[in-house]
Amino acid sequence: MASLTQLSSRASGEGWGGGATENGAHHQPRTEMIRIEKLGKTFTTADGVVTALENIDITIEQGEFVSIVGPSGCGKSTLLMCIAGLIEASAGSVMVGSRRVSGPFTELGIVFQEALLLDWRTVLGNVLFQIEMRGLDPKAYESRARELLTRVGLGGFEGKSPWELSGGMRQRVAICRALIHDPPLLLMDEPFGALDTLTREQMNVDLQRLCAQTGKTALFITHSISEAVFLSDRVLVMTPRPGRIIADLPIAFAAGTRRLSIRTTPEFAEQEKKIYSIFRSIGVLRDE
Ligand code: ADP
Ligand code: MG
Repeated sequence: MASLTQLSSRASGEGWGGGATENGAHHQPRTEMIRIEKLGKTFTTADGVVTALENIDITIEQGEFVSIVGPSGCGKSTLLMCIAGLIEASAGSVMVGSRRVSGPFTELGIVFQEALLLDWRTVLGNVLFQIEMRGLDPKAYESRARELLTRVGLGGFEGKSPWELSGGMRQRVAICRALIHDPPLLLMDEPFGALDTLTREQMNVDLQRLCAQTGKTALFITHSISEAVFLSDRVLVMTPRPGRIIADLPIAFAAGTRRLSIRTTPEFAEQEKKIYSIFRSIGVLRDE
């Protein structure tokens, strides 16, 4: 099966990400992709006001892969939706590139836990749906869509229906759909959470290489500490609600060197341990 990393041939060297190399060399000069300042979000419900996010400050540079780990209900999805402009912040600001986010915008791709494919559309039709939603001409993107699908190992599946695919294949379609318009920023909300462990590990390997090779900026939300350590240049740790960032840990593996074998190294275990101990210190994990 072709790997997701081969997707990069189109994207690499294009405007936003040019300069990334396979060994993960940083762009010169580095520029900010996301700047979040004092972000807060409250929801008014029948039971009163729920503070989902409080005083969030995050800066992510172009080409970085950043994961957010935090307990269920701490506001991770809310944060991602605020960045995407899909829900409105209650306080503070979100900048993506030079734009202040005040509503949905086109230069990003989003992947959710469920592939959310339209059952009445083919695989190809699902990838092109993104283009149609953006008011672009699907005909102009059809060959790119076919190429992306081939490169994630779905060549020959263009005409299949989503229900004919495995969970991993459905997520690969969702990733093609998120990348079809070649966005600089990829937001992922527990994208592999519903997959079996082996499929998930392969998706991790393919995704991290794809991002390293193309220079895409990625924000990845996960429950899995080991997934976060494996994928990321930095891991941000969130508290239970109201969600705040309590740690911003650089992960000391050079991008592009992340093979599955790093999972069994002492360095990997050390990084995981740091995150576990933070969760223990705030009472998210307990031995009794
Ligand atoms: P996570 O993704 O970390 O599990 P969410 O961002 O989905 O958490 O939710 C954070 C908190 O905000 C939860 O307590 C949730 O119930 C609440 N919440 C999320 N969306 C809404 C909404 N539209 N209305 C009311 N409360 C919400
Ligand atoms: Mg969530």
